[in-house]
Amino acid sequence: MRAAWLVLGACVLGVVVTALLTVPFPVLQGAHPHVDILRDFTRSEIAREQAYHSAVRPPAYLSLAVSLVVAGFLGLTRWGGRLVAGVPGHWMLKVLLGVALVFAIGQLVTLPFDVQAERVLRRYGLSTQNWTGWTDDLLRGLGIKVVTTSVVLLVLLALARRWPTTWWVPGAVVAAVFTLVASFAYPVVIEPAFNSFTSLPAGQLRSDLLALATKDHVKVSDVLVADASKRTTALNAYVSGFGSTRRIVVYDTLLRDASDQEVELVVAHELGHAKRNDVLHGTIMGAFGAAAGIIVVFLLLSSSGVLARVGAKGPGDVRVVPFVLLLGAAAPLLLAPLTNLVSRHIEARADLHALDLTHDVPTYIASEHKLATTNLADLDPNPVVYTLFFTHPSDPERIALAREWERLHR
Ligand SMILES: [Zn+2]
Repeated sequence: MRAAWLVLGACVLGVVVTALLTVPFPVLQGAHPHVDILRDFTRSEIAREQAYHSAVRPPAYLSLAVSLVVAGFLGLTRWGGRLVAGVPGHWMLKVLLGVALVFAIGQLVTLPFDVQAERVLRRYGLSTQNWTGWTDDLLRGLGIKVVTTSVVLLVLLALARRWPTTWWVPGAVVAAVFTLVASFAYPVVIEPAFNSFTSLPAGQLRSDLLALATKDHVKVSDVLVADASKRTTALNAYVSGFGSTRRIVVYDTLLRDASDQEVELVVAHELGHAKRNDVLHGTIMGAFGAAAGIIVVFLLLSSSGVLARVGAKGPGDVRVVPFVLLLGAAAPLLLAPLTNLVSRHIEARADLHALDLTHDVPTYIASEHKLATTNLADLDPNPVVYTLFFTHPSDPERIALAREWERLHR
């Protein structure tokens, strides 16, 4: 038990040290960005964004709240354990079908809110999906969630059954390795399940983007276009993969709606992530975090109070499954203030990188304006929303930072 606490401390330290070494605090030395929304956004743009958010937030937040209440009910009473234990057959089948049942229940109770949120997205022209495509995405997402979660739980329970008091050691190692593998596999396994990718055809833009990467000394194997327009009008781009498999992915919506100069700026931001190995550092923090999470689960499942509450005989009992699923659902939200804080700093640094690379502040501000109005971004988020959900600085903050960059480089 003492050893588990020590290693837990070491993992948390691992996250903190990695963050201190790789996250820019502050992002721009000597900067005092001044956010002035009315300078860049018209009153009607602001009104449209506010109307959209007041329509989409109630169903979105209700969906989140209801899913947490249901996960809490199943995870903290004996009902969830009974549900999983009631599945006939081998314990592994109980875990697999139990996970599927718990997730399916969670999806069913939030379905009315999710449908309502999708209706709002369509009303504001943000979603281009029909209900067939929407359902297809939902089921695909659910399937991937059930499979990956069951695999993790099957491994953990197998370890807990084999080594009831020391399973956290192999468990933490497996969790860390799984996080690393998942991060590498994500672009080649999960992304293609939702989008198809084609190489950006040879031409001015492709050569310009590859030239930008070369100028930045970032090795890029390809520029891909994702067919995002089949579900959204949102504009985006990202860099995925590591080393020789690293590629720039651009949404087809971006190519359609933005000028080549604007696309270049978005890609320059993504090159900033690649150059600083942000995905790799995030994965390392995630691996430490996953190991820490497993040790927390171990410590909780070592408590007779917790086991009694869920009606389980030991940590290897399938009745613990809903409790572990509850922890998995609550943890990201509880940690969101910290993970978002780190993420916003990394994003701001990528923005500065784009400016360092292109020196193009006017296009930068124009493209931020376009991204914000097209994606209907929240221009003035309240502090709770900002803390819990903002992985990027707000668009007016990004514009303010760009003006500050210009002032400091004049
Ligand atoms: Zn970014």
